[in-house]
Amino acid sequence: MAKGIWVFAEQRDGKIKKVTYELLSAGRGLADNLGEELCAVLFGKDVAGAAAALGEYGADKVFVADNEKLAEYTNDAYVNTLFDLAKANEPNAILFGYTASGRDLGASIAQRLETGMFSDCVSVKVDGGQLVFDRPLYAGKAFVSASCPEARPVVAAMRPNVLAINEPQAGKQAEVVNVEVSGDIRQVIKEVAMAISSRPELTEASIIVSAGRGVKAPENMKLIEEFADSIGAAVGCSRAVVDAGWYPQAQQVGQTGKTVAANLYIACGISGAIQHLAGMSSSKCIVAINKDPEANIFKVADYGIVGDLFEVVPILKEELKKL
Ligand code: FAD
Repeated sequence: MAKGIWVFAEQRDGKIKKVTYELLSAGRGLADNLGEELCAVLFGKDVAGAAAALGEYGADKVFVADNEKLAEYTNDAYVNTLFDLAKANEPNAILFGYTASGRDLGASIAQRLETGMFSDCVSVKVDGGQLVFDRPLYAGKAFVSASCPEARPVVAAMRPNVLAINEPQAGKQAEVVNVEVSGDIRQVIKEVAMAISSRPELTEASIIVSAGRGVKAPENMKLIEEFADSIGAAVGCSRAVVDAGWYPQAQQVGQTGKTVAANLYIACGISGAIQHLAGMSSSKCIVAINKDPEANIFKVADYGIVGDLFEVVPILKEELKKL
């Protein structure tokens, strides 16, 4: 019988990503409820040292594949290795972050294991012995609760920044199980081009200042960037800003951009089209600055400022400095 809640641990350069701790915290509750083990799966190169943190955040066991061939994410190396591991251990569920690699690996492993995948889930609970996932539909207009009583393992990708992180238990150790890399690896990563920025990564940021067409010109993005830097925020933008060539697509928030769930999302000159809301409406506190009092963004905003962003942003920046 399939047993065990697994969390795929994402890392970069041996540093565990925040979404992994979110998954472990949710996974701990699920495992305790079902009376099963919580296992983390850690792949990469020179990552074995990171297993200790996974134990402190709740994992009972950590499967570690520490190998040169896993230094960068490739679909075939990661899927082959995870497939053999899952086949040998028959987990009840495998949870991924709804991130670029989590989406790719989750969907591929679900296909190889002949099961399904719930993507972009915002919560999970146990009901009647089954894992029940909530996920948004129609760009966030509705939510569906879904479970998978038949196939195992249940594969799901959870939206980053939505699940709470439990306090780590210092010194709590997980059993470490070393794993070999499996199968033929045909994909080779020749180069990784990383955007160099001192700002937080959009999907992990706790504060985001986001710009819409209301900024009017690319040079005005400086105003948004300076405001963001003054409060340690990431910079996001709407698709209109990307389409106009004012800001990189990597910073686009929305249906065809990144999905974010910040503690504070400040929308500057964004109208609140449904495709934009799909990417940010699960943020905990939304502040909208827009000169049109009828703008749709005010329907989801916790605080709305009707005004010209070129006047409001500098005032906000100065006032927040005083805090
Ligand atoms: P606008 O809708 O033009 O709004 C600009 C706002 O700025 C207005 O509300 C205006 O009142 C306000 N404004 C103007 N001047 C000022 C000022 N000085 N001070 C304050 N406010 C001011 N959009 C996304 O954002 N992300 C997506 O991922 C995305 N995916 C899409 C996918 C599809 C398939 C489609 C069809 C569309 C998608 N869109 C997406 C586009 C979306 O429909 C909207 O066109 C877009 O979000 C509008 O961007 P905006 O709010 O910046 O611009």
